[in-house]
Amino acid sequence: MIDCHVHTCRCGHAQGDVAAMLLHSSALEVVTFTEHLPLPAGMDPNGEYSMSSGELEEYAAEVREAALTAPTKVLLGVESDWLDDRVNPEIGTIVDTGVDLVLGSVHFIGDWVFDDPSLLHQWEGRDVEKVWRDYFERVVAAAHSGNFDVMAHTDLVKKFGFRPADSVIASLADEVAAEFRAAGVAFEVSTAGLRKPCQELYPSQTFIEAFSRAGVPATTGSDAHSPAELGYRLADAESALRSAGYHEMCYFVQRERVMVAL
Ligand SMILES: [Zn+2]
Ligand SMILES: [Zn+2]
Repeated sequence: MIDCHVHTCRCGHAQGDVAAMLLHSSALEVVTFTEHLPLPAGMDPNGEYSMSSGELEEYAAEVREAALTAPTKVLLGVESDWLDDRVNPEIGTIVDTGVDLVLGSVHFIGDWVFDDPSLLHQWEGRDVEKVWRDYFERVVAAAHSGNFDVMAHTDLVKKFGFRPADSVIASLADEVAAEFRAAGVAFEVSTAGLRKPCQELYPSQTFIEAFSRAGVPATTGSDAHSPAELGYRLADAESALRSAGYHEMCYFVQRERVMVAL
């Protein structure tokens, strides 16, 4: 099994360092650490969203050192936010260190961190379909930016259970799948949604099937934020892929896709 989405205590909202996370890696063939890249100044006032500025090289060294002795393949990645016209100031630094994977994520719609439980009240009174369209517009722009290898938790906007009509979701899935295919990015099936109010994989089976029809490569991840979450229910992610017609999935080494049988 492949876990391509793993955090550590460096991001300010997770527990366990690299070594602690790897104590739970025995069932996994690949673990890619994907700590949150530091955000631009002022966007993380409480230090709760990403690792601190200047911590990148230490993080990279910690992962590379653990890789030397770990019983499983350990790779270095980052999770990087799509911030509209703002850019992550350190994306160039991490890419220069020979990173294996850059995950692309949308957590911000403008200045609203729509998936932050402490900001849940800001969903009140919003037009849910419009929020979804605003969200996916950013996901598609991110996919085409060329900054990312894999788009993370593609339908994260459903986290708290706010959803538009099924027909809207189905047409969004087809549109996003065509855009991902054209952009050449992969997507992850994330088991984090199974731990959240939506109680569903990210993305839903509707999206996974649309991605399968469009030929978008897939990977799997737990988005672990504690050692116990490493590899969380990845068998469910694999079976969702198989039932959508996937026969293989991928992970990334030096930002090159490596395919493995499912
Ligand atoms: Zn994320
Ligand atoms: Zn994450």
